[in-house]
Amino acid sequence: MDRRILLRNLLLGLPAGYIIPSVLSSCTKTDLLEMADFKGGVIVIGAGASGIYAAQLLKDQGIDVTVLEASSRVGGRILSDESFAGIPLELGAEEIHGQRSLFYDLVNYQFPERLLPEPGDNLYWLENQIRTEQFILENSDLQGAGQTLFQINESFGSYPGGDMSVLLYLNDFPVEERFMEIANAIIANEYGTSLNRMGMFALREAEAGYSSGLDGYFLREGTVWDVFSKAFSGAIDAVVLNQVVNRIDASGDQVSITTTNNQTYTADRVLVTVPITILQSGSIEVLPALPADKLASIQNISMGNGMKILLRFSAPFWKPETGSIIGGAVVPEYWVSTLGKATTAHVLTAFVMGEKADALNVLSEQQVRDTILAELQSMYPDEEVTGNCVGVLVKNWADEPFIKGAYSYPNPESTGQREILARPEHGKIFFAGEATNYNGHLATVHGAMESGYRACKEILES
Ligand SMILES: Cc1cc2nc3c(=O)[nH]c(=O)nc-3n(C[C@H](O)[C@H](O)[C@H](O)COP(=O)(O)OP(=O)(O)OC[C@H]3O[C@@H](n4cnc5c(N)ncnc54)[C@H](O)[C@@H]3O)c2cc1C
Repeated sequence: MDRRILLRNLLLGLPAGYIIPSVLSSCTKTDLLEMADFKGGVIVIGAGASGIYAAQLLKDQGIDVTVLEASSRVGGRILSDESFAGIPLELGAEEIHGQRSLFYDLVNYQFPERLLPEPGDNLYWLENQIRTEQFILENSDLQGAGQTLFQINESFGSYPGGDMSVLLYLNDFPVEERFMEIANAIIANEYGTSLNRMGMFALREAEAGYSSGLDGYFLREGTVWDVFSKAFSGAIDAVVLNQVVNRIDASGDQVSITTTNNQTYTADRVLVTVPITILQSGSIEVLPALPADKLASIQNISMGNGMKILLRFSAPFWKPETGSIIGGAVVPEYWVSTLGKATTAHVLTAFVMGEKADALNVLSEQQVRDTILAELQSMYPDEEVTGNCVGVLVKNWADEPFIKGAYSYPNPESTGQREILARPEHGKIFFAGEATNYNGHLATVHGAMESGYRACKEILES
């Protein structure tokens, strides 16, 4: 997926609002935290990107840290599969968004040789034809509309109008109806949702803060979690699996944390990194009760369904230079997940979010497979698509009991809410996780890491 598709032709000035902490240029130095007074013990709830990174930073300060993870594995929304195609393929986070990002820093420090600049060309499904970006920009019939489409992001970070759904804004702009599936793919699907579920103010908030860069990278080999494991092994050693936290009691001198298997843990501070859906479910009781604006912020930030479907083919029906196919009515974006990797396997990843994920969510895996292959066959009518498909793996993130969806997105009600969500409570309860990122990097690995860093500083200074 590539949030930057729209932006790459634009000479945008990058906002100076967020400075990557120097601590992350090596991912091991902790000089920014040295002024801290805090010396107590910390429990981190959740072993995803934010929790593991925060735990490592705290351990590096000599702090006693325990990480409680509900599921039977570490990584959260970082997860890969190695058996489907004989090489690791990512079922969750995959792309490194920009060079000025903690995720990029982390990979560049641990495995620089594995950084793979986004390979291949973007192709667009437009009026029942596969088109190149160049065709859309240069074809006289499409030129005006194509320019509008590819430049529309220019206005998001400084949008001056009133709040409305992004779909309404695009209709008014106007983006022609025939381009709407492409617009949905490159704006909304990328943000984990659909155009009608996004708000202009919330999108402006995210885009104005986004500063990590417009280029995308993948891993040439290995997995995203390999990188975390190598860098943050100390934190991973501190994880206790199968600990479903259901109560945080901060009413005493210390924080008492209980789990569904009746374990009790005590610490001076707790860092909550669970997905927003878990906070919304009310499955974690907090004492004393959280203030009303915090409770409202939890409900106001949305996270919807999301899926990755891996499709393996005995032979490619796409051209060798194909990177992504964008704008499908069933699947907003397909990409060639084996491109640039040392393998003879041919795999497409279908990336589906929002309403389109809701539609697939009610189907059986066989129906999901058939529906997607029918769309691909319609895109490549002269090629054998269905008959060449030798395997399908459906990863539906809504089915993960301790995640319940893909990632948070800029829904209208979320404007201004992430900073409230991130705020510490009762002097002892701290919050991190991608949904708490209010610097424009929500919904990303580097955004989750930044939130872990912020929360660490707050704990050390508390
Ligand atoms: C399909 C998909 C594709 C993505 N692609 C990209 C990408 O290409 N690039 C990118 O940068 N980002 C991508 N992301 C987003 C990225 O994966 C997330 O933003 C990031 O991993 C979130 O980290 P986190 O620590 O905030 O949350 P999580 O990783 O969700 O970690 C939270 C942890 O809390 C645990 N937990 C929940 N409830 C409890 C409880 N009661 N007690 C204890 N533990 C609990 C969960 O099991 C989980 O392990 C993608 C996400 C998805 C789903």
